[in-house]
Amino acid sequence: PAPEKNDFIRQIVRDDLASGKHSRIRTRFPPEPNGYLHIGHAKSICLNFGIGREFGGLVNLRFDDTNPSKEDMEFVESIQEDVRWLGFEWDELRHASDYFEVFYRSAVKLIEDGKAYVCDLSAEEVREYRGTLTQPGRPSPYRERPVAENLDLFRRMRAGEFADGSRTLRAKIDMASGNINMRDPALYRIRKVAHQNTGDAWPIYPMYDYAHCISDALEGITHSLCTLEFEDHRPLYDWCVDNVDLPNHPELWQPLVEAGFDTPVAKPRQIEFSRLNINYTVMSKRKLLALVSDGLVAGWDDPRMPTLSGLRRRGYPPAALRLFADRIGISKQNSVIDFSVLENCVRDVLDAEAERRMAVLDPVKLVIENLPEGHAETLEFGNHPKNEAAGKRTVPFSREIWIEREDFMETPVKDFHRLVPGGEVRLRGVGIVKCVDVIKDGETVRELRGQLDLDSRPGMEGAKRKVKGTIHWVCAKAGVPAEVRLYDRLFTVADPDNDEDGKSYRDYLNPDSIRTVRAMLEPAACAAAPEQSFQFERSGYFTADRHDHRPDAPVFNRSVTLRDTWSA
Ligand code: ATP
Ligand code: MG
Ligand code: MG
Repeated sequence: PAPEKNDFIRQIVRDDLASGKHSRIRTRFPPEPNGYLHIGHAKSICLNFGIGREFGGLVNLRFDDTNPSKEDMEFVESIQEDVRWLGFEWDELRHASDYFEVFYRSAVKLIEDGKAYVCDLSAEEVREYRGTLTQPGRPSPYRERPVAENLDLFRRMRAGEFADGSRTLRAKIDMASGNINMRDPALYRIRKVAHQNTGDAWPIYPMYDYAHCISDALEGITHSLCTLEFEDHRPLYDWCVDNVDLPNHPELWQPLVEAGFDTPVAKPRQIEFSRLNINYTVMSKRKLLALVSDGLVAGWDDPRMPTLSGLRRRGYPPAALRLFADRIGISKQNSVIDFSVLENCVRDVLDAEAERRMAVLDPVKLVIENLPEGHAETLEFGNHPKNEAAGKRTVPFSREIWIEREDFMETPVKDFHRLVPGGEVRLRGVGIVKCVDVIKDGETVRELRGQLDLDSRPGMEGAKRKVKGTIHWVCAKAGVPAEVRLYDRLFTVADPDNDEDGKSYRDYLNPDSIRTVRAMLEPAACAAAPEQSFQFERSGYFTADRHDHRPDAPVFNRSVTLRDTWSA
């Protein structure tokens, strides 16, 4: 069994269970459906769902859909697919928009209690009145509006009587607070935009800081885990939870009960952890969206994207992403994780799980002259060197085979231990072959001719003879041509977000991040199901493309090379 994880959040959960503060915990993963999930979200998913699973708790998937204009059903569907693909299942699926009526009633309560008011300042004026870190804010001229006037104006905001941006509902907290988030933050704004769940029902929408904590309270979330930039918002989170006081005001959530929702209303606690940053990529949804809409990548699931659907298509197994989340752990320290940490997780999982196959990427023909014309055999190869249970496969072999162009050098450099004119190399699973002739078209090698040492076949005494190199090959008669996409990092620099010298991440796109090559595959590689991964011997881990692979027209994506080629 894996060692028990013990970060500071799990410690809090453990203590809360031990002390009896909670008999069962509940967490949530709250994506905004305005883009596809990325590897940063995977950290949050593995944390929230992992804790739920480890402590026998419940986990909600909640669409934080309070911002209608950027949201889309395509994103809603992809998010569910990606969470499941990562290996998790939610207990309840919720939408913040399920709670619009509760948010509204709660806001009316705050107004009645003298804790919120309708403000007519423009966005720019609000900013100016708010003050700065070193300067207290000034009260809005509308701050002392009578409750009855606030109630009337808020009802008319809700009825759609006023123009976008003309008024807001603000919490009445403290314009002199050292925490700017507490200087009468907006709770509601006017936006006459249709919403994908509620249509035209609402011309006003709640702000994140107000809606999120009330949603947590309604769902009985015990530990609301979020990233560090919300640390300064925690006083506001607590202010809203305490002043709305749902547990003592069941009339506020009566509409949910009537609609049949489970409402385990309770007081939630926000806990912050550091977000995931990885080098050689960008993670802001705005930038990922721009890469897609400007055609700089082939879509959200382009295998170079840090999106979960991109990593999936690239061939990263979900177990590798979970392993990555475990390895990086949870803390309050901001840091940038090296991309190779993620790639090593992929290598570790695929090394254990992926069967081995032979594929020749840039093929050149080798004719073995001392085998008769039409000679053909069937060899048997183990599927996995460290796992007998993976079984064996048959590999056709004949007089003509493909080898990698790179495995031959006419004028070898020092320490080149593969095939050279007059030299010997071992053909994996076949025996020792000597290069006896090189046939060229101008400068290009068109064909190699060889002689197989017939006493060096596997199991024979002569097979023990030492030669420096071993190369792989594919039978020219039975081999299947394939398209192989060699993916690499999308950016050439570690920090593409760095916008010094007026440059942007677009200036750092890696022109070699995709190279498509023709390859020859052994037949047992072609039968692969979409998304099946193999180690192509000596070359890397490759995965049959989810969409384009067909057994008679194979398409493989390089998931990761065998070794790290980026770090020095
Ligand atoms: P945006 O602000 O661009 O809309 P976001 O990054 O806040 O997007 P959400 O959809 O709101 O994305 O995120 C859902 C959850 O995933 C949040 O709880 C958020 O804290 C978490 N999350 C997002 N990015 C990361 C990251 N890089 N590392 C860890 N958690 C993250
Ligand atoms: Mg967000
Ligand atoms: Mg973001």
